[in-house]
Amino acid sequence: MTSTRLLIVGPQGSGKGTQGVRIAEAYGIPEISTGDIFRANIKEGTELGLKVKAITDAGDLVSDELTGEIVRDRLSQPDAADGFLLDGYPRNIAQLHHLDEFLAERGESLDAVIELAVPREESLKRIALRAAEQGRSDDTEEAIAHRLDIYERQTAPLLAVYGERGIVETIDGVGSLDEITDRILAALEARGLVRTAAV
Ligand code: AMP
Repeated sequence: MTSTRLLIVGPQGSGKGTQGVRIAEAYGIPEISTGDIFRANIKEGTELGLKVKAITDAGDLVSDELTGEIVRDRLSQPDAADGFLLDGYPRNIAQLHHLDEFLAERGESLDAVIELAVPREESLKRIALRAAEQGRSDDTEEAIAHRLDIYERQTAPLLAVYGERGIVETIDGVGSLDEITDRILAALEARGLVRTAAV
């Protein structure tokens, strides 16, 4: 049984959610998005949702402690035992260390980090389009700019750490959805990461 543990990183509007779902499907592993978990809880009005709504609406980060707890719980579910694709976690260096520790406890580590590279202008254009289509409450102009700033300041540095480990695949995120999926799959295959299903 092979297991594949992946992380997808990219600015908002890079298409990482869409690509993450496709890649997870190709590898037969769950796609775990902290943003999706928060949004689902907000929608259902759970205690967690009430706690994080104002924070996510402002484009700020939920506390490392709370987010870490949620990720630990999710990664401990049986479907994540044989691999997973993380989207949106870790998002800063403290979270990276937390994930390292958790995986090390289980004798695991990430196999590859997919960086979707998209210029800021392109990200802004795509988020504006999504805002018009989906009406996400954190897609105000102010929150969008704030999230991109946080990405550049706190999330981009993760790539230096993972880069030193030799596990980063930087993928050009401009092109059609299919082209980008093909680029990612080719890069992962070149690393010897075997997939279970066709896309
Ligand atoms: P996303 O869909 O990944 O852009 O996440 C939406 C929002 O959820 C973010 O703007 C944050 O407020 C929150 N969030 C998602 N992932 C994390 C994380 N790893 N740490 C802290 N906050 C997060």
